[in-house]
Amino acid sequence: MAAKKMNLREKYTRMTRDLAWDFSYQRDEDVYKQMTMEGIKIEDWDKWEDPFRLTMDAYWKYQGEKERKLYAIIDAFAQNNGHLNVTDARYVNALKLFLTGVSPLEYMAHRGFAMVGRQFPGVGAQVACQMQAVDELRHVQTQVHTISQYNKYFNGFQEFRHQHDRVWYLSVPKSFFDDAVSAGPFEFLTAISFSFEYVLTNLLFMPFMSGAAYNGDMATVTFGFSAQSDEARHMTLGLEVIKFILEQHPDNLPIVQKWIDKWFWRGYRLLTLVAMMMDYMLPKRVMSWREAWEMYFEQNGGALFEDLARYGIRKPKYWEQSVVEKDVISHAAWGTFYNYAHAAPFHTWTPNDEEMEWLSAKYPDTFDKYFRPRYEHWAEQEKKGERFYNPSLPMLCTTCQIPMVFPELDDLALTCYRSSEYEGDTYHFCSDGCKDIFDNEPEKYVQSWLPVHQIYQGNCGGATVEDVVKWYHMEDGVDNREYLHSPDRRNWDKWTKKATEEEVPPKTAVG
Ligand code: FE
Ligand code: ZN
Repeated sequence: MAAKKMNLREKYTRMTRDLAWDFSYQRDEDVYKQMTMEGIKIEDWDKWEDPFRLTMDAYWKYQGEKERKLYAIIDAFAQNNGHLNVTDARYVNALKLFLTGVSPLEYMAHRGFAMVGRQFPGVGAQVACQMQAVDELRHVQTQVHTISQYNKYFNGFQEFRHQHDRVWYLSVPKSFFDDAVSAGPFEFLTAISFSFEYVLTNLLFMPFMSGAAYNGDMATVTFGFSAQSDEARHMTLGLEVIKFILEQHPDNLPIVQKWIDKWFWRGYRLLTLVAMMMDYMLPKRVMSWREAWEMYFEQNGGALFEDLARYGIRKPKYWEQSVVEKDVISHAAWGTFYNYAHAAPFHTWTPNDEEMEWLSAKYPDTFDKYFRPRYEHWAEQEKKGERFYNPSLPMLCTTCQIPMVFPELDDLALTCYRSSEYEGDTYHFCSDGCKDIFDNEPEKYVQSWLPVHQIYQGNCGGATVEDVVKWYHMEDGVDNREYLHSPDRRNWDKWTKKATEEEVPPKTAVG
């Protein structure tokens, strides 16, 4: 008689739970050393349900299929000079931001999930973490491979890994993930699986991938699609994790709420870079940051937190501030990068007339009042051959590491400054959210590697901007500075036969 065929659930159980064993000559607390340090109480790990019930053999089969399709498309893209189909060469700078700022985080996510997977006694959790660790490794690889086509033709990509650990603005994403992986395992899952993957990921992936589609970048669209089905799993895991922890013990609620407050704020601050990309770096825009925040956070996020209210979870602290700031952050960030374009491995520019009109229409309360005059002034300077580069260095927030560019809520013309004293030193913050995070764990954040402090202490290659740029592995005048004066633009015009007789103005020295 033939053996009864197992259904999916039984098969999954055999291939996961049944592979585990109980320790007989080691104590559980010696094997899983980080299980109690955060105060989270888990009574029954078997309650952890993986909604996908993927076995390892099915997992590798699906992923292998996706890889085959992806690499076929990347090959076709390379053979057909796909990089020439983008709207214009300004767009490529969004990819430089992605490769330097986001792809290394995929690698950190891989490491993070591998580490926490080792810490959990539950097999369901171990398997989910292991699969996500492998997914994240795949993401960084596919991103690097896809974008390598652009690296053959455009400047600024070649040192992304070196730069991630050094360049001032990359300290923002780097410190975000360093903070997460140096937390305990439950906090890591709340930070990355829930707050980032579940609540905020639509605001990272959607803008870059639909931005790519709008701007003719089929290579990036393809890795986006390939990552998306993994993303669906990750988001489900994020929600399951939160519900699992909350259902295990009532004492877990205040701890989890505090983590949600912290990681919402950290993730939201990180998205400042995405806001800027959406409003300024896409020659063809998808939607404004303001619209994206309304749709993905205020509406979708609002519904999620209403749903979580039955567990006692409330909306993250300071979410109201993000709603007020949605009118400001993209402009403040682009202005900052315009000022420091000599120290970043991508180009900046002032928006053209049509783009200024779009910004005025999307930001009726703030753009014309606060930001248009700056851009008009800078464009004027540039025309006179005096493209502005800011020679001083800004004060950074100790927590998010972004320069102090965020407004006071009751007066958007004022910059918000907060500070705390700790063991005789003063630390500075961009917001109440960042100050709270520091005040809760000062011994962690006093260790922040703040790029501006490091430059002033002489730890970044030397005392001059030239020294620092060299230490960043950036070729001055090639990888950085104004788009109008860049070799990227000159090449693009040549390739697309838009070259005029007129000489492109030479680069301007740092003032
Ligand atoms: Fe990923
Ligand atoms: Zn901050």
